[in-house]
Amino acid sequence: MEKFQTDVLIIGGGLAGLSAAIAGSDVKDTKVAIVSKGKIGSSGNTIVSTGCLAGYIKDRIEGDSEDIFAQDILEAGDHINNREMVTTFVEKSGEMLLRLQKYGVNFLQDKDKLEAHSSPGHSFPRVFQAISNKYPYSLQGMAITQPLRKMAKEKGVKFLEGISIYKLIKEKDQITGALGLTKDGQQIVIYAKAIILTTGGCGQIFANNNNTNDITGDSYGLAQSVGANLKDMEFMQFYPTMMVKPFKLAVTTTLFSLGATLLNKERKTFITKYDPKNGHMTTRDRMSRAIFTEIKEGRGIDGGVNLDCSKIPEEKFKENYPTLYNLLCKANINPAKDKIIVTPVAHFFMGGIETNKSGKTNVPGLWAAGEAAGGLHGANRLSSNALTEAVVFGTLAGEDAAQYCQENKYLNSFVFNSGKIIMNPKGDLNLKEIRQNLKEVLWTDVAIVRSEEGLKRAQKKVGEIINNLEYIHTSSSREVISFHELKNSLLTAKSIIRAALLRKESRGAHYRIDYPSKNQL
Ligand SMILES: Cc1cc2nc3c(=O)[nH]c(=O)nc-3n(C[C@H](O)[C@H](O)[C@H](O)COP(=O)(O)OP(=O)(O)OC[C@H]3O[C@@H](n4cnc5c(N)ncnc54)[C@H](O)[C@@H]3O)c2cc1C
Repeated sequence: MEKFQTDVLIIGGGLAGLSAAIAGSDVKDTKVAIVSKGKIGSSGNTIVSTGCLAGYIKDRIEGDSEDIFAQDILEAGDHINNREMVTTFVEKSGEMLLRLQKYGVNFLQDKDKLEAHSSPGHSFPRVFQAISNKYPYSLQGMAITQPLRKMAKEKGVKFLEGISIYKLIKEKDQITGALGLTKDGQQIVIYAKAIILTTGGCGQIFANNNNTNDITGDSYGLAQSVGANLKDMEFMQFYPTMMVKPFKLAVTTTLFSLGATLLNKERKTFITKYDPKNGHMTTRDRMSRAIFTEIKEGRGIDGGVNLDCSKIPEEKFKENYPTLYNLLCKANINPAKDKIIVTPVAHFFMGGIETNKSGKTNVPGLWAAGEAAGGLHGANRLSSNALTEAVVFGTLAGEDAAQYCQENKYLNSFVFNSGKIIMNPKGDLNLKEIRQNLKEVLWTDVAIVRSEEGLKRAQKKVGEIINNLEYIHTSSSREVISFHELKNSLLTAKSIIRAALLRKESRGAHYRIDYPSKNQL
C-alpha cells in the first residue's frame, strides 16, 4: 500500500462516513481519508434502506414546526432521548436535506418542491423520498450514497476500500490511529490526528436481521476497547414483517390498513391476544412481540407466520404497492392466493457511542456518528430519522474533527504496512459455528422478549465464548477478519445484556416479560 498522510480518518463508508468526509474536506487545508470494510458508498445499511429521510423544511408544510418535530421524536423515544441532540437534529434536518439535493441526490418532487409524505409517528408529512431508477428497489439507498461518493472524490477525499479496522490506537489518552486488515492478508497501520467512527450498527449479531453482512457491532467493540462511553445499549428496534418465503424482502406494515392479517399454524388470527384495542394496527414493537411469541410457543410456520393478503383486492394491492406487486408477480407469487411467510428481524440500534452534539466522544481524538452513535432516538426511533441522523451528525462530526486538526497540527499522521496477519491454525474450535451460536443465543434470549432468567443464560453463554476465543481456528485472512468481528460482536452483546438486565422495566423497544410496565421517570 502506498504511504500517504491524513488529518481526519473516517472509518466506515456509509451515509454518515461520506457526510463526515465531505464536511471535513470543506475545512481549509484538511486532509481526509475514508477507510471501509466494503466499497465506499456501496456497503453498509444505507444502501439497503428505502431512502426515506425525515426533516423539517421551513414553510414547507403548514402547521409543522421544529418544536412539533422534536416532540414527536421525544414521544417515540419515550422521553429518554438526549435533548441537545434532538434540538440540533430538528434545527439542521431541513438544511441538510436541501444540501443533499445540491450534492446531486434526487428526491420525489411535487411540482418545484420536494414531495412530503406522512409516516407513522410523525404529526405532519415530513418524510422525503430519495429515488433513482439506476438502482433496484432493494438498493434505493444508493440513490443517496453514489452522488455523495462522487462529491467526496471531487473534493480530494482519499478512499481506502476493503480494509477492516480491528483496533484503535490510543497513546497517552489520545486516539492516534487504527489497525486494519486487508482481504489478502496485510496488516495496515493508519495514523491520524482525528478519527470518526461511522461503522454502523449491530444487526448481524442477531440470528434474524435485515442488515448487511458487514454490520457486526464493530462500532461499539472498537469504541469500548479505548474507553469510550456507550449509552442506551438495551434498545434494539425490530421490524415485524420481513418476508422470508417465497423470498427475502421487507414488507411494509401499512398493508394491514388495507386488510392484510397475520395467521398462525392453526390458521387463526392472533394479534388481538397481544393488542385487543388496535389489532393489526398495533405498533411495530407489539407486532414483533406477538409474532415472536407465536413462533416460540410452537404456532409458527416455516420459521414465521402467514401474512394473509387474500382480503386485499388485487387492483388495490397493485395500485398502492406497485413495486412490491411487480416483484411478487416476477416470482410467480399471487399475494391474494399464495402463502407469504413473515418474521420479525433485528433492524436498527438506538444505542451506541455517547457523543456531544458535534459527535465528539469522551476520548480525545475520537468522534462517532450515524448508527454508531447513541442518544438521539432514546428508547425507540421514529421512522426515517436514521438517514437524516447520519447526514446531520456525520456533517457536524466532520466539521468538528477537521477544526480540531487545525488546532493540533503537531500530531502525526501517516499510513504503512506492518506485516502479515497472525493466524491460529492450531485452534480446534470452528469460527463459523461459534458466530452462528452467538447469533442464536442473542435471538432467543436478548431480542424481542427478555427476562432476567433468559438474559443471565445469555450472559453465561457469551462469557463461555469469550473464555474460549484463544482456541478458535483461523487459517485464512478472511477468517482472521471474521474472528475480529466476532470479538466486537461479543463486546457489543455483553453491553446489551448488561444494560437490559439493569433496566428493570419495559420501555420503547426494550421489553421485559418479568417487568412489563414502565417505571416513572
Ligand atoms: C432494510 C433497511 C431499511 C432501512 N430504511 C431506512 C429508511 O428508509 N430511512 C431511514 O431513516 N433509515 C432506514 N434504515 C436505517 C438506516 O439505513 C441506517 O441506520 C443508516 O443507513 C446507517 O448509516 P451509517 O452510515 O451510520 O452506517 P452504514 O450505512 O451501515 O455504513 C457502515 C459502514 O461501515 C463499514 N464498516 C463496518 N465495520 C467496519 C470496520 N471494522 N472497518 C472498516 N469499515 C467498517 C461498512 O462496510 C459500511 O461501509 C434502514 C435500515 C435497513 C436495514
